[in-house]
Amino acid sequence: HTEINKKYCFNNFIEGESNRLARYSSYQLAKLKNSYNPLFLYGNTGLGKTHLLHAIGNFILENNNTAKVIYIHSERFCANMVKSIKNNSIEEFKKYYRSVDALMIDDIQFFSNKERSQEELFHTFNTLFDHDQKIILTSDRYPKDINGMADRLKSRFSWGLTISINPPDLNTRIAILLYKAAERKIKLSYTIAQFIATKLCSNVRELEGILNKLQNHSIFNQKNINIELVQSTLQDLLICQKEKITIKNIQKSVSKYFSIKMSDMLSKKRTRSIAQPRQIAMALVKKLTNHSLSEIGIAFGGKDHTTVLHACRKIKELSKKIKKFIMIF
Ligand code: ADP
Ligand code: MG
Repeated sequence: HTEINKKYCFNNFIEGESNRLARYSSYQLAKLKNSYNPLFLYGNTGLGKTHLLHAIGNFILENNNTAKVIYIHSERFCANMVKSIKNNSIEEFKKYYRSVDALMIDDIQFFSNKERSQEELFHTFNTLFDHDQKIILTSDRYPKDINGMADRLKSRFSWGLTISINPPDLNTRIAILLYKAAERKIKLSYTIAQFIATKLCSNVRELEGILNKLQNHSIFNQKNINIELVQSTLQDLLICQKEKITIKNIQKSVSKYFSIKMSDMLSKKRTRSIAQPRQIAMALVKKLTNHSLSEIGIAFGGKDHTTVLHACRKIKELSKKIKKFIMIF
């Protein structure tokens, strides 16, 4: 989770009007060519903020493999801080985050209303800033609009370059679909990409969602994707969206099904009656949403991505034994 994900780079980030400036400034920063600090990227979910952070990290490391670049999600930063206070290792914690060439903190809005964490962030920010170490932040909204964030932090967030990422326009959506289809070896014609792109227009994760579904559909192996298949898949997707397959909803449904408390679902309790539903919920989230292992870990009360991976494997094993499961996993 402080690791850079090799999957996300500048090469596979499709550029369009909506993200050009964000991509360009990220790229300049990765080349260490600009002097502004911090870089603050903001925009709705699924528009490529996290992708760009990893791309920056990968680029810096490719050009200097001794560079120290840290990517961390805000919730993880806060959790690590709490842990190090408990363990009396706050000094190490401080050192760790202040010894970097570049520190990237994702979804900074999660610091809202966490005063102690904001305090630590404030000092880390100042130290890095004073030594011209790079700070890259993302948020779902403009710095000034982050409620529950100290004013001194909000103003610091805007000291460098603040750039928005917007939903991609039609042509960019088509380009993204065609690129990602090719990557997955799905045969998708321009016309069909265009058809999908006119129906789905809020974010890139959604576009990846439909490609996943098309890919899962058995007939694509034999034939090109045709319009009937796309229409029915889109319909499924739109119905699913109505019922919102979100992490929260999956957690709720599974808790309800197994009659366990939501707080237990998110807890560290290891009794089987709680651990197994939790593992099932984790595996369902992995299967039905596009969230990464670390994001899922975070949403289940700050667990490690390896815990989620373990859960997915366990449930897959289980599904071989219990027929009812096979349909899904
Ligand atoms: P955010 O952090 O803004 O919520 P992500 O960076 O997680 O969004 O992006 C969601 C998914 O969409 C990721 O799989 C990412 O690779 C992909 N994505 C977003 N924007 C682009 C783009 N311009 N080109 C290619 N893939 C993109
Ligand atoms: Mg993100």
